[in-house]
Order: sequence, then structure tokens, then C-alpha cells
Amino acid sequence: MSRKKIFLTEEKIKRRVEQLAQEISSAYLDQEVMVVGVLKGAFIFMADLVRGLTIPVRIDFVALSSYGFSSQSSGVVQIIKDIGQSITNKQVLIIEDIVDTGLTLHYLKERFLAREPKEVKICTLLDKPARREVPLKADYVGFVVPDAFLVGYGLDYQEKYRHLRDIFIIEV
Ligand code: 5GP
Repeated sequence: MSRKKIFLTEEKIKRRVEQLAQEISSAYLDQEVMVVGVLKGAFIFMADLVRGLTIPVRIDFVALSSYGFSSQSSGVVQIIKDIGQSITNKQVLIIEDIVDTGLTLHYLKERFLAREPKEVKICTLLDKPARREVPLKADYVGFVVPDAFLVGYGLDYQEKYRHLRDIFIIEV
């Protein structure tokens, strides 16, 4: 059994997600946004965030897989489930659980930009800037976090802990 220590409580997360939803709603005014969640980690954050939005939204998801020799992100990413709608001329907001090296979102953003959307922005619940390998900057960030391994509220360790209401630091 891995040891885990509470890092962000359910209440703290809820308050910050509500603030983010307000921030995003006022930034887009009444313009429609295509909100694209990155599976699986973003599923809980996305569900809470979109229910706080007061702008018109369309919802879709992508699933990405990262291939490499280690368990860490290799930067070699593939889209294994793409969105089912065109984003040409649309405003796209990617929703991610955590940005670490930045390689995954750097890849996804480039792939989306090639489809000629109006713009692509990024909203991440957690940002771990200490480990960045490419200059990826999220437009909306819930919490800046230290270089530790986090689980809960959608984030897993070997597919466990995603259902937890709080976010924990885990020793792996
Ligand atoms: P990046 O390409 O930015 O290095 O990778 C981001 C992905 O790595 C996240 O979507 C997540 O799947 C995984 N990841 C990075 N840091 C953590 C962490 O602290 N906890 C968990 N559960 N996943 C992480």
C-alpha cells in the first residue's frame, strides 16, 4: 500500500474550480467554446468546471497515449481517440488535469492548430512548472504545485485513486 498525504481538500478544489469557471465565462463573454477534455485524468475536473460556465459550450474528449521506455512522459504522443467534430474557426479550450513536462499538451495544441481553429487555449487544474521541458504555458491554472506525484480528483497511480474527492501526494 502506497503512503499518501492530503494536499488539496475537496472544499479548496471546489472554490478554485468555481473561480476558474467565472474567469473563463467572463473572458469568452457570450461566445461559444468547444471544450475538449483530455482523458482520463481531466474527467472529474471537466465535469465540475463546465457546470460552472455561463457561456455556450460544446463538449468533446480526446484520449492520448504516450509511448516511451519509462513511465514518464516521452514526448512521443499519439491521439488514440480524436474529437468527433470540426474545430475549424472555433474557439477551443483544452482541459487537462496536470501539466508536467508540457510535452503532451505541446503536441496536442500543435495538432489542433493545424486544423485552423480561431484559437486554442489551455486550462489545467494543476501546473508543475519545475519539470517543464518545452515552453508550454497554460492560459488558466487552478493550482501551481511542487514536483511531487499527485493522485485523486481524476488523477491516478496505476489506474487507482481517480475517484478520491481530495488530492493527495503519494510516495511511489
Ligand atoms: P506531460 O506531457 O506534461 O509531462 O504529461 C502530463 C501527464 O502526465 C498528465 O496528463 C498525467 O497523466 C501525467 N502526470 C504528470 N504528473 C502527474 C502527477 O503528479 N500525478 C499523476 N497522477 N499524473 C501525472
